[in-house]
Amino acid sequence: MARNHILIVEDERKIAQLLVDYLAAAGFTASCLYRGDQVLPHIKKDPPVLILLDIMLPGMEGTEVCREIRRFSSVPIVMITARVEEIDRIVGLELGADDYVCKPFSPREVVARVKAVLRRACAEPDFSTPLEAGPILLDESRREASAAGHPLNLTPSEFGLLKILMGQPGRVFSRSELIDRVQGYAFDGYDRTIDTHIKNLRRKIAEGIPHREVIRTVYGVGYKFSLEVEDR
Ligand code: CA
Repeated sequence: MARNHILIVEDERKIAQLLVDYLAAAGFTASCLYRGDQVLPHIKKDPPVLILLDIMLPGMEGTEVCREIRRFSSVPIVMITARVEEIDRIVGLELGADDYVCKPFSPREVVARVKAVLRRACAEPDFSTPLEAGPILLDESRREASAAGHPLNLTPSEFGLLKILMGQPGRVFSRSELIDRVQGYAFDGYDRTIDTHIKNLRRKIAEGIPHREVIRTVYGVGYKFSLEVEDR
């Protein structure tokens, strides 16, 4: 799928077409779905760069669609809502949507939001180039990682964990979030085994950098990657 392709899920066809036109004028291509229950199979086959998702939809509600998408994808989602009182739900329920627009909206405003969300999403790490953080180097394309030049012989789970943590240094990830995100790496684990994988990962990293802990435990929450000097 093209790098500028947006999926619009909106059962009001006139609105959907209006969005297609405005997005096209802004240099995007867009396709439309008119039912909520068509979204998951569609994006598994053809992942778009962003989804504009109406809430009131036949088949499956937009909020439910959003929740389901977040089980396997971090594709940016902008929710469309006709009811101001839904905003609290969208934001408060932590559905994982990236932004929202209220009906009636100006298509121009939607395009501006889409661009802003994509800019933010693009600021997230691009894994096609190697990640480097202090002494740690991770090359996704070669499936290689090293600590101070010392090659790390990582299992797929350990590699996935390191990639996720390193991708957003300083950000704290809960155990369940880590499990969700590393699933693409054939992750074989539950909450407790995350701890075991982290322990093994730390031990391997310590072979390269023995006196420095870059994977920190955040008590009661989870783990983060940090190069900062630890407060003790
Ligand atoms: Ca609708």
